Amino acid sequence: MDRSHEELNMVLEELQKKQEFIFMQAKQSDLSQQSIAPVLEELCVRISKIMSCDRVGIWLFNENRTALTAQSIYDRNESSHTSGEVILAEELPSYFEAVQQKRILAISDVTIDQATKELKTHPFCVKGEVKSLIDASIILSKGIGGVVTCDSTKLRKWTYFDRVLAASIADMLSFIFDRLERIEVEEHVRKLAYTDLLTGLDNQYALTEKVMEQIQSFEEGQRGVFVYLMMDQYTEMQGVLGHDGADQMLTITASRLKTLFPYPAQTARLAFDHFVIFLPIKGDLEFEMGRLERNINRLKRPMHISGQEVYMTFSYGVSNYPEHATNVKNGIQAANMALRSGKEASNRKNGNLYNPEMHTYLKETILSEMNLRRGLDQNEFRLHYQPQVNCRTGEVSGFEALIRWQHPERGLIFPGEFIELAESTGLIIPIGEWVIKQAACQIREWNEQGLKNATVSVNISPRHFLHDELPFHLHKCITEANIKPKSLVLEITENVALEDTEAVANRINLLREMGYSVSIDDFGKGYSAFIYLQHFPIQQIKIDRQFINGLGKDPKSSGIVQTIIHLAEMLGLQTIGEGVETKQQWDLLKQFGCSELQGFYFSRPVPVDEINELIRNHERGGKLLLPSVFQ
Ligand code: C2E
Ligand code: CA
Ligand code: CA
Repeated sequence: MDRSHEELNMVLEELQKKQEFIFMQAKQSDLSQQSIAPVLEELCVRISKIMSCDRVGIWLFNENRTALTAQSIYDRNESSHTSGEVILAEELPSYFEAVQQKRILAISDVTIDQATKELKTHPFCVKGEVKSLIDASIILSKGIGGVVTCDSTKLRKWTYFDRVLAASIADMLSFIFDRLERIEVEEHVRKLAYTDLLTGLDNQYALTEKVMEQIQSFEEGQRGVFVYLMMDQYTEMQGVLGHDGADQMLTITASRLKTLFPYPAQTARLAFDHFVIFLPIKGDLEFEMGRLERNINRLKRPMHISGQEVYMTFSYGVSNYPEHATNVKNGIQAANMALRSGKEASNRKNGNLYNPEMHTYLKETILSEMNLRRGLDQNEFRLHYQPQVNCRTGEVSGFEALIRWQHPERGLIFPGEFIELAESTGLIIPIGEWVIKQAACQIREWNEQGLKNATVSVNISPRHFLHDELPFHLHKCITEANIKPKSLVLEITENVALEDTEAVANRINLLREMGYSVSIDDFGKGYSAFIYLQHFPIQQIKIDRQFINGLGKDPKSSGIVQTIIHLAEMLGLQTIGEGVETKQQWDLLKQFGCSELQGFYFSRPVPVDEINELIRNHERGGKLLLPSVFQ
């Protein structure tokens, strides 16, 4: 059945109109698996008309392309629609191979063609009395995703025009399914962006939004309190109960908090054992504080974890809205300060109420105690480097620079003990600048030693990341060291996202334009990681150690890691698995498609001399393979 040019043009025009209509629908982003069904049904009817076919099917492959599932099938002779039919690759191996290799499979007589030889006995084809078929592959951004099938009960000679038509129809479907997948991923991302993955409580992002909304609808004179709550001895208990036990402790606490502080109170977990509650207050403040204390006491009920009875106590600090803070961030900060100065005080009185003097008090004690400034002036800081390896080949692809403080009296101090203090006193800026300068010089040295493409990642604190001088300082350091900006990776944590989103996005854009890579550290830790994927043009994510630790032990971790890698892949981001300690973890991450790895399995962070020795002994033609990779 030949078609005239004119006829074909008309058909193509109609198709284009349909495509525009679908495009409009998809853009409205209310596209979903349900809303798509009638669209597909209607399309099948139209395709059967355009192609003069007896049966039209739209099929999608499963993940490993071993099966095709019908999304919609239209039988013109029976005027019926069906879906859900499954055909398996093992039943029709030649057909599956042909469909994946050819853009268009146009077969005039299914009984004699190699590709369809198994089809003639397949129940699906027998039922439809298929004699000829023209199938076009639906190509999605992730690769071939499915096929649109047009069957005929008569022998047909397929023309060039038929092929063009089939291909345009398939392209239209590609567009729809790509869009659908994108929307599903976005929906997933949106959900994750506002929840703490471990406990299911809100994260800081969600809390901020909800409390802001509440505050805006407050009546004149209405007040609220922010409560910052932490477990006493969480770290010690983590040592005793192990990782899973500590997670259970957090989950139980979260569920108790939800019960004890129902709506209109808002509860969230910010990180580790840090929880925040916001309570709108109608009546007397003192009465409410009494009730708060009683409720927090009820959290002390024993928890049953791995057959043990665990008793936990809690400390908290309180700040008032609007007396102590007029926005959520300041409210949380003030409550945190009240908590910390409560802990500092010798009587360890719990539940302190914020007062502005705490600010100076805390800063002074910290400064006199640690004297970070002196450490910096006396050149007591060191950078240790931890190799990062390519997940497939095991070759070293870069290093993370990790700061240490060689204290004259106290010995080697790890960043966990002083970074937070440096942040709160502002000393993090000169310290961070020192780190960048040092790292840039190191890149230069390693370049000279033959490692041409190795990158060095530096940790940039939130405060430093948004600092006006950062872009200038970076530029100065890489120019002086004569290295390329792409060899420097800037790691930021999710906390940065809690700052001004627009400022953060602008800063990331600027740094990218300047040629640097930006990476998200501790991804998924339960703050608000996924918000980054929505708003910020980052290049790399580092999957938090806690999930890598759970690989092979706890299915939830494996699921999360796979989701993260899948999302990252779709968005074209590089993934680094952090804290890899076993070969099994490496194997699993390789299987999931992770790009890079870092962890004790390969090497601990070590002084620069040790890296130099590795380079001397193991570098071959610009490539470095660690001895641990051959274990
Ligand atoms: P991070 O950026 O997540 O760094 C990785 C931490 O995990 C390092 O701890 C590293 O020693 C440890 N680690 C690496 N592999 C493994 C493993 O397989 N198992 C286990 N259990 N741990 C592993 P470190 O050096 O104590 O640093 C702690 C944190 O301090 C860093 O976490 C980072 O947030 C911060 N930090 C380090 N250096 C700097 C710096 O120069 N500037 C800033 N602002 N923060 C820094
Ligand atoms: Ca890091
Ligand atoms: Ca990390």
